Amino acid sequence: MNLLAFCTVATGLAIGAALLPDYYVTVLNYVGLYTLVTLGIVLLTGVSGVTSFGQAAFVGLSAYTTAIISASFGLSPWLGLVVGLAITLVAAGILGSITLRLSGHYLPLGTIAWGLSVYYIFGNLEYLGGHTGMSNIPAVYLGPWEIAHSREFYLLIWVIVLASMLLASNMLNSRIGRALRAGKESRDTAESFGIDTARNRLFVFLYAAALASVSGWLYTHMLRFLNPSPFSLHMGIEYLFMAVVGGAGQVWGALLGASIITVLKEYLQEFLPRVIGQAGNSEIIVFGALIILMLQVNRDKGVGALLTRLRLHARLKPEDGNEEPLARRARSELASGDIVLAAEEMSKSFSGLKAVTDVSFFVRRGEIVAVIGPNGAGKSTLFNGITGLVPFDQGRIVINGEALAEVSPRKVVALGVARSFQHVKLVSDLTVLENAMLGAHIRSHGSSISAALGLSYREEARLRNEGQRQLARVGLGHVLDAPASSLSLGQQRVLEIARALCADPDIILLDEPAAGLRYKEKAELSSLLQELRASGVSVLLVEHDMEFVMTLCDRIVVMNFGHKITEGSPVDVQSDSRVIEAYLGVSAA
Ligand code: ADP
Ligand code: MG
Repeated sequence: MNLLAFCTVATGLAIGAALLPDYYVTVLNYVGLYTLVTLGIVLLTGVSGVTSFGQAAFVGLSAYTTAIISASFGLSPWLGLVVGLAITLVAAGILGSITLRLSGHYLPLGTIAWGLSVYYIFGNLEYLGGHTGMSNIPAVYLGPWEIAHSREFYLLIWVIVLASMLLASNMLNSRIGRALRAGKESRDTAESFGIDTARNRLFVFLYAAALASVSGWLYTHMLRFLNPSPFSLHMGIEYLFMAVVGGAGQVWGALLGASIITVLKEYLQEFLPRVIGQAGNSEIIVFGALIILMLQVNRDKGVGALLTRLRLHARLKPEDGNEEPLARRARSELASGDIVLAAEEMSKSFSGLKAVTDVSFFVRRGEIVAVIGPNGAGKSTLFNGITGLVPFDQGRIVINGEALAEVSPRKVVALGVARSFQHVKLVSDLTVLENAMLGAHIRSHGSSISAALGLSYREEARLRNEGQRQLARVGLGHVLDAPASSLSLGQQRVLEIARALCADPDIILLDEPAAGLRYKEKAELSSLLQELRASGVSVLLVEHDMEFVMTLCDRIVVMNFGHKITEGSPVDVQSDSRVIEAYLGVSAA
């Protein structure tokens, strides 16, 4: 379906090349150039959650590089393309490694500072022609053919744009795309399933800069004249507009947004001066209004969301199960009774508040252990400490005999500990099946390049199979294609269990898995966990439903005010006076 859409657009563009008057061909050339840059913003902002106002500066960096190489030094524009790309990537690498670590508003602010400074450098360097610019930039030759006229450029631009869109779309429909979306929604979740979010963010930052760079090169040799104004912060903001209007979460949004804004701008620049009576950028007011309207009506999905409803973008096809299964996670052999997970003397305080104090316990292979205790006892903090989401002040974790000097979520999941969250953390942009497949990220290895070229379809099929298998196991086999956000809260919790199982864990940590489940669903969850125990997977859970805990668990650890107050079988714990006291708040004696 996706390919069909591409072919339709390509055919339309080819017919356009033959039939349209020159003026429209030129407009479409600009649409193409803007689409390239906006595609980068779609990947960066819409998919990965990194807002950049600095893309126009990357366009300019490569534009000036190729202008210097071809006009000042008289070398080939193709060399200009390569050097421009290299310089852009180095600049983006440096900028990215500084700004991407910043949180919240600092990152967009960093890109604004970058966009402003590059613009003023272009304008103030005599050598670059200052604000007057550079002219006499040579044409591009493709072998013996000179690409000089707008119709020739039209072909070059649109071949590059469509190819870039196809590659990006393939990439987004792969494990990398899911990992990027997961990182946007919640870095904790992504890291907990083995995704290196910092590396991914830097990767898309470079990718987006490269797209901007290609656009800058095309622009320079199409116009054969250069001044700083198209690379200003103003233009950086306009690229963001395009992404937001078109639909920042999807590849088609780039084309839509670039088309809408470009055409609207042409029209408004004609129309507004007649109404308002002055020339100069008044279209920005209309764009601003448009953005506000867009955000009101459609949140951050843009016009592209309409396309999603028409199902123009690829949906995963469930597999029939003929594919060979996904390779299991590498692990040392465990005998039953071996200790899978041990926490030793763990302590954590939050600015003076002792959330967990000196807690030790262990879980054996094939055992179901519960941590219970009143609200605020420190159960979730303990879970977050074990899985590396909260750094502990003291104590250590031993997983399958390996003592961890430093606990990080990626390390923990690689060693066989997968988890769910007390406050459900699913990726709402993805389907139920895709969310489950995220869990198997560490069991797959396809690179972004092979995904972009469409070469990782075998692994994708295996990932789908695994996702489907685990979803069927937890009783969600009938809603594979539904958006994760459409499930009931209880189903979302169960989906988190399927996602954890996709990691092929030795132990799963479930933080209040039965909360919000109905009676029948709880019974089903209970038998699922028993089945897991029988298959050798250990379970560590936090739960408030005492009937659920007492009938299911082998052992129970009881916490209160951050301390472990006792530990034992359900029968022992139920009759322990300290436990009764903790729950009732009165002395049992
Ligand atoms: P439980 O899961 O047993 O209900 P938590 O582990 O969530 O308990 O919380 C234990 C204590 O630590 C509570 O008093 C809570 O307010 C506090 N706490 C938890 N997380 C944080 C945090 N990130 N910052 C400050 N205090 C926290
Ligand atoms: Mg909790």
